[in-house]
Amino acid sequence: MTMKHYYPTYYQDFRCIAADCPDSCCQGWDVVIDSDAEQFYNTVQGEFGEKLREAIITDADGDRVFRLAENKKCPFWGADRLCDIYRALGEEHLCATCARFPRITMDYTVFTEHTLALACPEAARLILTTDGAYADFYDIQAKNCEDYDAETMRLLLNVRKRAADILTQRIPLEERFERILRAAAEAQRAKTGVVFDPAGNDPDVFEQLEYIDEKNRLLFVLAAEKQPDFSRYERELTNLSLYWLYRYLLGAINDGNIMAAMRFLTVSVGIVANLAAESGDIIAAAQTYSKEIEQSYENIEELGVRS
Ligand code: SF4
Repeated sequence: MTMKHYYPTYYQDFRCIAADCPDSCCQGWDVVIDSDAEQFYNTVQGEFGEKLREAIITDADGDRVFRLAENKKCPFWGADRLCDIYRALGEEHLCATCARFPRITMDYTVFTEHTLALACPEAARLILTTDGAYADFYDIQAKNCEDYDAETMRLLLNVRKRAADILTQRIPLEERFERILRAAAEAQRAKTGVVFDPAGNDPDVFEQLEYIDEKNRLLFVLAAEKQPDFSRYERELTNLSLYWLYRYLLGAINDGNIMAAMRFLTVSVGIVANLAAESGDIIAAAQTYSKEIEQSYENIEELGVRS
């Protein structure tokens, strides 16, 4: 069986803007080093080889990572904001995490969907400013496969299609959100027989999450508590809603929890709208939210979504 691959239109337009990046993937995250890269780093001679080996440690999860330097910076992030490993050894010797970021692959066995991580500022710009990016995903068919129930996948694809139609209607975003939550609650009831409250996540959950930058804890809690005004950045917030719909809804194939993905979408768009209303920068608001929330396995699990 040939695997079909689906891409949003902005995917091919992505180019890392490196030194011009306003935030960077080289700060704030643990970079897990794959064994092929580490084996190669063990063969690098001279001072740079020594620096590589000294920088690699085992973290609390047992992963091999670079020990972060001051301000949680990657130790190979140069003063010119370019990567020393890239410079010294070439792109082909970046570890898989760095070489791939911000590209994300979602493998559903009989088809694969691709997207970009919103936590990258340049990807965030493309995601929020590209309209009609998901036309390619519209008619995906679920075929039988051994890894999951094709009937559930068909249900999820139908819910997603319905939600995408609703999200592109010319009615206020609040109303679109009410409709997609109702559609998800109906599908959830059809699947499990359980009646779900379509309300969003409890704002208190944002108090409990882990943050790279502690000041975001209070900002996110306040933004989660406040009623959002969607009118200012309606176009970008619509594109953001579609992004999260395509990023997470099919993840419900793992646990059948359709509501979790839809609640995450509506609550997160509300928080980003409020953060942007304060800062006046919708792209930075979405990117910061994603960096703090989506790039943390613990946080995303706490919010109940699967990818
Ligand atoms: S966050 Fe994105 S644009 Fe910035 S350095 Fe990383 S890959 Fe490049």
